[in-house]
Amino acid sequence: MSSGLQITVHGGAGEIGGNKILVADSTGTRILLDFGQSFTAGNDYFSGYLQPRAVNGAGDYFEFGLLPEVPGLYAREALQNTTLRYRAPQIDAILVSHAHSDHVSALRFIDPTIPVYLGATTHTILTALAETSWQWDLGPHDYRPFRTGDKLHIDSFTVEPIHVDHSIPGAYGFLIHARDAVLAYTGDLRLHGPAAHMTEDFAARVGEAHPDLLLCEGTRLGGPETVRWRTERDVLASCRRAVANARHLALTTFYGRDLDRINTLRRVARATKRTFVVGARVAHLLDRLQGDPKLSVPRVGREVLVYLRRKDTYYSYERAFVTHAVGHRYIRRHQPEILLQLDWTNLTELIDLQPTPGALYVHSMSEPFNEEGEAEMQILQNWLHHFHMELHQAHASGHASPRDLRAIIAKCRPKQVVPIHTEHPEAFPDLVRGLGVKVRYARRGRPLSLTRQ
Ligand SMILES: [Zn+2]
Repeated sequence: MSSGLQITVHGGAGEIGGNKILVADSTGTRILLDFGQSFTAGNDYFSGYLQPRAVNGAGDYFEFGLLPEVPGLYAREALQNTTLRYRAPQIDAILVSHAHSDHVSALRFIDPTIPVYLGATTHTILTALAETSWQWDLGPHDYRPFRTGDKLHIDSFTVEPIHVDHSIPGAYGFLIHARDAVLAYTGDLRLHGPAAHMTEDFAARVGEAHPDLLLCEGTRLGGPETVRWRTERDVLASCRRAVANARHLALTTFYGRDLDRINTLRRVARATKRTFVVGARVAHLLDRLQGDPKLSVPRVGREVLVYLRRKDTYYSYERAFVTHAVGHRYIRRHQPEILLQLDWTNLTELIDLQPTPGALYVHSMSEPFNEEGEAEMQILQNWLHHFHMELHQAHASGHASPRDLRAIIAKCRPKQVVPIHTEHPEAFPDLVRGLGVKVRYARRGRPLSLTRQ
């Protein structure tokens, strides 16, 4: 192998999500940064109920190039019906930045003996998700949880995980010291969130190391600025106003792992003298995160109650909440005193709830950004119209604005930057203009080589 570092972006080049970045050095150390499922790749072949078959392992994904055919990476079972032969692991470690599916969910195909390094909180979240949803069963792995301040020695690499602020707790970026070069990876991050100082910590530490290259997310670059980007504080103010004005039932939907948003909505409920009631999945995650010393987590049964839908049989994680649970009859009787989580897939609960006309629905998620999302939004609006409910939209992004991205890159002081996790890598030269940073473009599966400058 040639001298220098080789970086191969197998997912996350020119697309949002699906990050899979292989880093190899001249001594033969090979690590992967994230191993997620793409949001968009595969949409040409799969949709709705037409999905890759679990029974065919990685086979259906290989057919359309949705997973890279890297030898010595996959589990024996995942390769059973493919032409890629099983080989003992040739990857030394996988580093997971955070527990969003576009960064982690393709781990299910990975050889279980490859060490997977991840934040302690990410480990807790993945465990909790697997307990409540079969889609999140990533199989057994050699998980090696870390905390801020740890240094990971992976053969010839020393890796410093550094916390960042994102729309899920326990997110990290990585600073990687290899023999041939210094490399940093942002994962997903933002500067406008409640824990902006963590992103500042990341950028400051990376800047001290003056890396040869920064792999930098650019989710919000280049797209039409039709969305009103706000901070979490704006979301709080906007929701508090809307809920305070509501005279009947208030319902809300949000991303179930966004602890910042959950805390925001809990504050809204408290300020408007309502009880915050969440679904059993969210309650289970809150319970599991309870012991985390770094997080402020509402206590189930005291600060939030649990809504149990009518079902013939309950899963064990749902049964655990029976004593804190309320059903549709309780909500129906106490409508003006409740802020209830009701996701799109559970809108049928409205038939039992029969909200008094004039009820409020707070959509605390991003506005639709594709046809599927627009179709779902239309259906939501039909339901709201049917029940004479009002819609309120309030959301803040998990990703940095272009202006904040520029500030982050300036503080990281990389010699070169590679855009990832963006549909608009061509917007990067403008973004870094005047910073003395060279933009390099990754093409899926094509190695970029990097030597110390
Ligand atoms: Zn993310």
